[in-house]
Amino acid sequence: MVDYISEIDQYLKRLFPITRSLTGQGNRESLQILQEILPLKILEYFSGQKVYDWTVPREWSIKDAHIKNSRGEKIVDFKKNNLAVVSYSTAIRQKMKFSEIIKHLHYLKDLPQAIPYRTSYYNNDWGFCLSFNDFKKYFSQDQEYEVFIDAGFKDGSLTIGELLIQGQNPQEYLISTYICHPSLANDNLSGAILTAFLGKELLKRKLNFSYRIIFVPETIGAITYCANNQEAMRKINAGFVITCVGGQGKFSYKQSYNPDCFLNKFIERIFQDNNIEFITYPFDINGSDERQFSSIGFRINTVSICKDKYYEYPYYHTSLDNLGFVSPQAINVSLNLYLDIIEQVDKIDNNFTFINTKPNCEAMLSNLGCYPVLGGRLNPNQNNKSKKTQRDIISWLLFLSDGKTCLADISSKIDISISDLYEVAIFLEKKGILKKVKYER
Ligand code: ZN
Repeated sequence: MVDYISEIDQYLKRLFPITRSLTGQGNRESLQILQEILPLKILEYFSGQKVYDWTVPREWSIKDAHIKNSRGEKIVDFKKNNLAVVSYSTAIRQKMKFSEIIKHLHYLKDLPQAIPYRTSYYNNDWGFCLSFNDFKKYFSQDQEYEVFIDAGFKDGSLTIGELLIQGQNPQEYLISTYICHPSLANDNLSGAILTAFLGKELLKRKLNFSYRIIFVPETIGAITYCANNQEAMRKINAGFVITCVGGQGKFSYKQSYNPDCFLNKFIERIFQDNNIEFITYPFDINGSDERQFSSIGFRINTVSICKDKYYEYPYYHTSLDNLGFVSPQAINVSLNLYLDIIEQVDKIDNNFTFINTKPNCEAMLSNLGCYPVLGGRLNPNQNNKSKKTQRDIISWLLFLSDGKTCLADISSKIDISISDLYEVAIFLEKKGILKKVKYER
């Protein structure tokens, strides 16, 4: 178990107040802070670059914004909460009547104390967000208001953080997280911080496979990265989109587009091994960047493990998704789950499975000699709740190794950990009774 609770707490507090968006100084500043944790390369993609069907947007900056009432009092103030301005708002300084300003105000009647999070990335518009309580307190039909947004656009760039960790095998797994949300804690500051510490831990390990870690603004950032790294991205084995990992609710995972992919099975196994109750969300086209990475051109099976998944918690995309909602302890537990999964995934080449070379009736096991494959580890062992002996495991493995079933599936069927099963499989491969074959997903 790794314990980064106090560091996670400090980084949450430092990064939370920064105004992040699709582009801009807040994203750079956030990545520079994360560089203290891991040696990220910061990539800049210029505004105007065509990326498939999209264009890298102009860079947005904001200095200040507020609404004043007729007595000159600030009743909505960006400097008090950066959610108060719709992200990518255009500049404005104007007096206006209630009937005009109301078209630009966003609040939530169902969650009257919360400020909603809104963006206007692709249409020139401006807006303010406030709690319904403040709306009722400060706004009425007969009043006049002064709105002020000191914001601007320039031909700048979109910023992405990247770290490539080379293992022995150049085949890569993708680890992606997004950095475009302003002061929102679970979605997705928790994910960015977890990803940084995950990278730091992976750098310490001797890895079989390679890992491509990216911090992108959601959607346009993922598209920009795919367009600029198309060949590398097409070769990715499978991936993770790390988001919403620090809430107060249950653990869950969102499956990759192919429910039979080994990654889904690994995750279920890890939850079960850790006695964690979890919710399974099947792949859905709505969500995060998995829909870019899993699109036809790339088809990367991409999963997310969450603790309070986006859409599912009432504070989602509101000011109540704050540092009181997430906890560094929860992020640390999620970090350990991700590490567990990647350690297991890293041990095994999941492009292959095994086929029994002696399929006709059972093999004579005494021909294998004694088989101390797993030493004394298997019995008793916390990963061997079923109390199977090595002989049982060997028999089951030979029985199920038809060349079409992956180890993760066999592991669920006979209830032992994938890595223990893999060691037994390698032993049987050396004895010539199992043979590696390409696993068609
Ligand atoms: Zn979001």
